[in-house]
Amino acid sequence: MTNPPTELASIDVKNPADGTVVGTIANHSSKQVAQMAANLRAAQGEWESIGPRGRADWLFKFQEWIYDNTNKIADVLQSETGKPRAEALTEPAVVTDLIGYWARQAEGFLTDGHPVQLGPMTIGKRLTTIYRPYPLVGVITPWNFPFTMPGIDVIPALAAGAAVLLKPSEVTPLSAAEFVRGWTEIGAPPVLGLATGDGKAGSAVIDCADYVQFTGSTATGRKVAVRCGERLIPYSLELGGKDPALVLSDADIERAANGVMWGGLFNAGQVCVSIERVYVEAPVYDEFLAKLTAKVKALRQGQDGRECKHDVGALATDAQRDIVQRHVRESVAAGARAVTGGKPASPGTFFEPTVLVDVDQTMTCITDETFGPTLPIIKVADEAEAIRLANDSIYGLSATVWSSNGERAERVARQLEVGAVNINDVMVNIFAYSLPMGGWKQSGIGARSGGAEGVRKYCRRQAITAPRIPTLSKEMLWYPVSQGTIDFAQTLLRAFAARGRRRVSLPKWLEW
Ligand code: NDP
Repeated sequence: MTNPPTELASIDVKNPADGTVVGTIANHSSKQVAQMAANLRAAQGEWESIGPRGRADWLFKFQEWIYDNTNKIADVLQSETGKPRAEALTEPAVVTDLIGYWARQAEGFLTDGHPVQLGPMTIGKRLTTIYRPYPLVGVITPWNFPFTMPGIDVIPALAAGAAVLLKPSEVTPLSAAEFVRGWTEIGAPPVLGLATGDGKAGSAVIDCADYVQFTGSTATGRKVAVRCGERLIPYSLELGGKDPALVLSDADIERAANGVMWGGLFNAGQVCVSIERVYVEAPVYDEFLAKLTAKVKALRQGQDGRECKHDVGALATDAQRDIVQRHVRESVAAGARAVTGGKPASPGTFFEPTVLVDVDQTMTCITDETFGPTLPIIKVADEAEAIRLANDSIYGLSATVWSSNGERAERVARQLEVGAVNINDVMVNIFAYSLPMGGWKQSGIGARSGGAEGVRKYCRRQAITAPRIPTLSKEMLWYPVSQGTIDFAQTLLRAFAARGRRRVSLPKWLEW
């Protein structure tokens, strides 16, 4: 009889750029996760009671801590992801930016509402809507942006007044540990916890949360949705993508080539909104391809120290490098050609920045999420073909349109089946916290950010009615019933609700 596999008590974290072990984290059991959840719940009430302003004070202190510790955070980020220095530095910078937004805006977003409804049932009432946070929000994050991802979701949840249990990927948990260390070091209330470990720790978080925010693959997102459905708790999913770029014949080709290159290769292509398919109108195809290929060839790939020497870093895991390699191999076997790149680069998990041509819509590099530094290019006859092929995907996260004609670009954008479109730019919508960031089709359910909705999603709405005029001993419809009051009530309701006098049928005694 074989013994069941024993649970690891801890997990080693490796630098994918050189394979060295850079840290170790606990593999928390369900019981440990449940205990953390209980502790967080115990602290949440007070956190809610200090209100948005009290919470903003703590968020700004946390922002200060990140400013003071930026270099250390970037070191940790590089150590577990193999990112270049420049990309590692962007992560704490984005988090400080979004802290500023949510800390300043949350109070306004969470203000009580007093909707006006003129009707016989409500006319004497004061109507109020209030926002009460879910006590415990579970945030499950992937490995591609180990410091930014917690920031994007944890900060608005804390601003809403929830306690948060964060579960980072086991591949890159050290940056999330820094995030939580910062919160603890500033002496903030103990409303942010860290559950580390493998997917089971993620499941355990779902089992004790009141709301789940998940970012990761579509396959795991589906499992998260099933479990949340079983528990009848709400959730929001940010899943995979296969973002198209549409380069139209009137585009500024120099800018389009620069933008597509950065949009496809930033973070070695491991971004949910990476450009993963490029459709170029025939008249500018040759010029665009020549520029893009020359630019990609000139990129510097490698492992940075504290100096920004390289443009493109390593992939996060061996498994991710293998996915990229398979997509390229299968596409080349089906007739595609790498005009630059196309193979892994050792040591570590590097994969050369790659431009693929002679690609068609059925190849793996176009149908599946690659999550790597590849740019497959397809020549299209016209705008209509570009739109048709761009929409031919199970994913619908975002897209870019490149054109010097604003009206034309917007007309194209409005026909794309995606949650966001950047015109003559790439990824910029992610930094517009007042816009919703949400995937259509299999790219997600719900949205993050989105101004007021970005905080309110972590709250339950409560409705309160209260008299605003002196009350009588009973309301019209309360017992005992009588024909007269029913007739009168019906007439009143019709008078308020019906369109035109025709529908107001008066009881006999009121007819004229
Ligand atoms: P996953 O979706 O498997 O992992 C995302 C997060 O979910 C991790 O923290 C993971 O923990 C956790 N998790 C895994 N299983 C469960 C579960 N049953 N319940 C709750 N949480 C769980 O992504 P992968 O890391 O495996 O990446 C695979 C692919 O996903 C990539 O190739 C890429 O295509 C896509 N991806 C998309 C991202 C996006 O931003 N849209 C980000 C990252 C990946 P742990 O890592 O410890 O297993």
